[in-house]
Amino acid sequence: MGKHAVSNVTRISMALEFGSLQYAIGDRTLFEDLDLSLPVGESVAVMGPSGSGKSTLISCALGLVKPQGMVKVAGTDITRMRSRELARHRGAHTGVVFQFGELLPELTPVENVALAGLLAGASRSDAYEDAEKLLAELGVPAGERSTGTLSGGERQRTAVARALVNKPALLLADEPTGALDDANRNSVADILFQVPSRWECGLLVVTHDEQVANRADHLLHLADGRLQDRSVA
Ligand code: ADP
Ligand code: MG
Repeated sequence: MGKHAVSNVTRISMALEFGSLQYAIGDRTLFEDLDLSLPVGESVAVMGPSGSGKSTLISCALGLVKPQGMVKVAGTDITRMRSRELARHRGAHTGVVFQFGELLPELTPVENVALAGLLAGASRSDAYEDAEKLLAELGVPAGERSTGTLSGGERQRTAVARALVNKPALLLADEPTGALDDANRNSVADILFQVPSRWECGLLVVTHDEQVANRADHLLHLADGRLQDRSVA
């Protein structure tokens, strides 16, 4: 192919699909015929009380928990993938943000974000360049300070940058503002809900924070093993 060949990266329209998901832990049914469709460019918030299965739902999208039914990430069913294929698919298409950032505190934000790029196979110069650009866009101060000395909000913005650096089709966030005070909660939510349109991906946020959940395009409630429109729940 000549140098003008079109990129072979096909446009992905669906970030995440769950179809008739079933999952039980012991004798407790967490998911019963659960469905979800999340297109690229949109956000969904899932609310539910502690223990209702929100984190387990994230684990299903990551392929770490194997429910019955369909789990499609970026258009491909991941339920029958072997671990190596799954890891590769996850690295290419999925970013995730947890409650406490889960960053390496001794490294600078740039090193934390660049590391995710390096692990995905980027060159050193590309990984650092992309990391610096993303952190600047997300308002994390550049510098040599270790991530552990930053504010909670700056750490979560760094975690968002790390989750985005490999250009995922799907961004997952598990209680992303759960450890933040009001001001930081709002600034992190501001950034998260800009992600679908700015970085062309689908965003699934699970949270028990109603103010954060209310900002999503779609608000669903995890109840009776299903995702229900809030008016029904
Ligand atoms: P949430 O994130 O909504 O608080 P989780 O998805 O973490 O809920 O957990 C849902 C339920 O499954 C809880 O009752 C929890 O105790 C149980 N659970 C989660 N993971 C495991 C596990 N690995 N082994 C046994 N029980 C688990
Ligand atoms: Mg949880």
